[in-house]
Amino acid sequence: MRFKLWLYHAWVKFSTAVNKVLAPVYVEYMNARALAKAEKFLQKFRSTQWYHDRHISDQKRKPDPNPKCKHTKGGTLPSPGGFRDYNVACHRFTDGRIKIWCLYSCGFVSWGGDANWTEAVRMMESSTNTQTASETAWKRGK
Ligand SMILES: [Zn+2]
Repeated sequence: MRFKLWLYHAWVKFSTAVNKVLAPVYVEYMNARALAKAEKFLQKFRSTQWYHDRHISDQKRKPDPNPKCKHTKGGTLPSPGGFRDYNVACHRFTDGRIKIWCLYSCGFVSWGGDANWTEAVRMMESSTNTQTASETAWKRGK
């Protein structure tokens, strides 16, 4: 009986020590397995026709000059209330230059102060799109 008790205690001590050593190894192993699984999934996903088409078409996306483009969202129908939501983007670069362009890649691009600027600002002001800006060091402040 005494020996059995000793054996039990020894076993608990031993298994606790083994657990301590093996737990990180096990976690690492499980992480590696999950990563391998994710990598496999990604590989499979990237080989699908859908991803291929999408990726290629993204790479091939070129400006599609369209002088008839109204730069508005929601097609050619006028929106209720006469409100026009222009699909334009505005971005301020770190060097201070501001660019406004049509997100339909119709070719409409305006840089701050150029011939299209007044129209570009008017469209941006009535758009629900928000401005973006490159992070600048001075903006963060101290
Ligand atoms: Zn446009």
